[in-house]
Amino acid sequence: MHPTVLITGANRGIGFEIARQLGRLGWRTLLAGRDAEKLNAAAQALAAEGYAAEPLLLDVADPGSIAAAAREVLQRGLTVDALVNNAAILLKEDTALVTNPAEVLEKTLRTNVLGVREVVHHFLPLLKNGACIVNLSSGGGSMSDPVGGWSPAYCVSKSALNALTRQLAYELAGRQIAVNAVCPGWVRTGMGGARAPRSVEKGAETPVWLVAEAPRRLSGRFFRDKREIEW
Ligand code: NAP
Repeated sequence: MHPTVLITGANRGIGFEIARQLGRLGWRTLLAGRDAEKLNAAAQALAAEGYAAEPLLLDVADPGSIAAAAREVLQRGLTVDALVNNAAILLKEDTALVTNPAEVLEKTLRTNVLGVREVVHHFLPLLKNGACIVNLSSGGGSMSDPVGGWSPAYCVSKSALNALTRQLAYELAGRQIAVNAVCPGWVRTGMGGARAPRSVEKGAETPVWLVAEAPRRLSGRFFRDKREIEW
């Protein structure tokens, strides 16, 4: 029986590459995303490479859609061995916290932070004991890195996601569910842009390691390149 991983925002970028690498390792992947057409294309692309990938309609900014997706997974008779919270937004109008309309921060937090809480909330009954949760964070959310110069609402959202990661690790320890955050580095995707130094293969490497290889006792931590880094 293949273990099952659910990946949000899996139709492109790092999420899609995580699905591909886990597919190669024999995982069944649930590709979650908000656009049915893009999802089907992504699932077909992975199937053509010989991997078990299924689309799952799920908008992380819409709690009703997340609840419906959880019901759908239940109906398919599946349980989940790993959850990768990868979906996120970085808005082009995210240039200043104080002078920009509050909606920029609100929208960013809704997707990047509250969306993660909501996905964990709805999928918790489907997560096996001993499962793992991997949250795609960023060095931009680090409280020990220098601050300033780019996308402040996005950076605040990733600081909050790191804090959420630690709290969830504590709350879910009783079910032996490991919860960790990853900085993938600066990666060439729609979000990272063409000038980024890292490939998607490299960006997916540490999340894949946490899902497929890392000991489950590692929890409540922040990783880059398979090494623990400071919050
Ligand atoms: P990307 O290329 O912009 O892809 C983002 C993915 O998230 C897309 O599949 C997108 O779907 C999906 N998404 C956005 N909002 C969603 C929603 N409401 N519901 C469902 N899916 C949604 O980003 P990426 O570079 O692969 O980034 C993946 C993760 O790594 C993110 O958490 C990001 O913050 C983190 N990260 C990236 C970098 C980098 O340099 N790229 C650096 C540090 C951290 P659509 O196709 O429908 O838009």
